Amino acid sequence: MTPHIVIAGGGVAGLTAALALHAAGFERITVVEAGRALRPAGAGLNLMPGAVRELDALGLLGALESGAALRTRELRYYHRSGGLISREPRGLGAGYRWPQLSVHRAHLQQVLGDAVRERLGPAALVPGVRVTGVEVLADGRPRLSLEHRDGGRSGRASLEADVLVGADGIRSAVRAALNPGEAGPSWNGTVVWRGVSRMPAAAVGSFMLIAGDDRQKAVVYPMTRPAGPGGPVLVNWALARPAEGVFEERLLGDWNRPADVDTFLHHYEGWEFGGVRVPEVLRAAETSHAYPMVDREPLDRWTHGRTTLIGDAAHAMYPIGSNGASQSIVDARALAHALAAHPDPAEALHAYESERRPVTTALQHANRQLGPEAVIHLAHQRAPHGFTDIHQVIPAEELAAIACRYAATGAFDPATVNLGSPYGPPYLPARAVAGPAPVA
Ligand SMILES: Cc1cc2nc3c(=O)[nH]c(=O)nc-3n(C[C@H](O)[C@H](O)[C@H](O)COP(=O)(O)OP(=O)(O)OC[C@H]3O[C@@H](n4cnc5c(N)ncnc54)[C@H](O)[C@@H]3O)c2cc1C
Repeated sequence: MTPHIVIAGGGVAGLTAALALHAAGFERITVVEAGRALRPAGAGLNLMPGAVRELDALGLLGALESGAALRTRELRYYHRSGGLISREPRGLGAGYRWPQLSVHRAHLQQVLGDAVRERLGPAALVPGVRVTGVEVLADGRPRLSLEHRDGGRSGRASLEADVLVGADGIRSAVRAALNPGEAGPSWNGTVVWRGVSRMPAAAVGSFMLIAGDDRQKAVVYPMTRPAGPGGPVLVNWALARPAEGVFEERLLGDWNRPADVDTFLHHYEGWEFGGVRVPEVLRAAETSHAYPMVDREPLDRWTHGRTTLIGDAAHAMYPIGSNGASQSIVDARALAHALAAHPDPAEALHAYESERRPVTTALQHANRQLGPEAVIHLAHQRAPHGFTDIHQVIPAEELAAIACRYAATGAFDPATVNLGSPYGPPYLPARAVAGPAPVA
């Protein structure tokens, strides 16, 4: 019988891990999710070609592209004055075998959740169950303490696992159990207003734009094709600026804090890039939230015996360079591959961590230095009032070097990604037939 693998958290990382483990031959998988339902939440995400490659290997690309997702074809960096700093093709246009995708997080989660229920059976995904603690049994297996809610009733339970995967996000309870006394998310003093607008395709262009100066930034991109000629598209936006107040500690990592557009729109009056008027985008907002820019301090260790961490629980990073969800998806596939390749689960988790921790730690550090978005600061420092020729401000070779350095940090350059997924077989030789174990 294959081991019983419990995944704490049904977000992007946890659901992808369930699918990757199932594809690798594991059958006894339980995902416990604190939310009472798998509620669609969030705004837009960008999935890099390396992550899309892994979703394609799981047979999910068709479903993703048939909903709120759009191929990201071009990325443009703009100076605050409106001057174009650089433009680069993305995805297929940049020579990758897989596209880069702009996708609504809710759509991604829906596609992943539907596939989990369909492939693993509805009992594999248990909503309304929060992990509150983890202890190690005498035989080395983890036992989870759980709190569950069902309608108005709540209760406590415990669940023993052969392997525990902490995929419970930036405020991970599994991480806290493994690292008692560790400080929570760290905030850099910036607020990020995030939201989704619906507006005519012509008003938003067909590119992803990142614009600003040394203080403020705007990211805007479409996430869908127009429903018909002249029809509207869904547009993601994220605006960063030093916060005027402070966020309470409990809100660091809270994605659900609504914000009224009128309270910050005035900071972006006059912001226009490549024909995209940021205030117009904001006035068409359907959702709007305030999020403190937080990450977690890189850990020296993710794996403790038969328990490990993936996704934001392991390496939450600043939302720069499209790596939050992308790296979580790669983690999930790497983890499943390691568990299938090593008969001893503890060895497998170490192999997974040895592969993934160095690269994600490097990205956490790179994002603290603004990653590829450093070009905006550089342009502002050298030409605060704008320029007529960007190459007199930042030579072409210097611009290219900044982008290349970041791609090398994450090993997501086209040549490496195009080699194909390193996480295919070995699959487990015989598939066990037992279904997921019920929550005690
Ligand atoms: C509501 C929400 C909205 C988001 N919106 C955006 C966005 O607009 N743009 C963006 O770039 N990123 C967004 N993110 C973050 C993004 O999804 C992650 O950075 C990335 O996809 C990594 O995913 P993850 O699965 O590791 O973490 P998450 O996506 O955070 O998923 C963690 C999951 O674990 C569950 N969970 C938490 N604690 C427990 C517990 N103790 N027991 C059981 N389950 C638990 C959570 O409910 C959640 O479903 C959002 C995250 C959330 C939770």
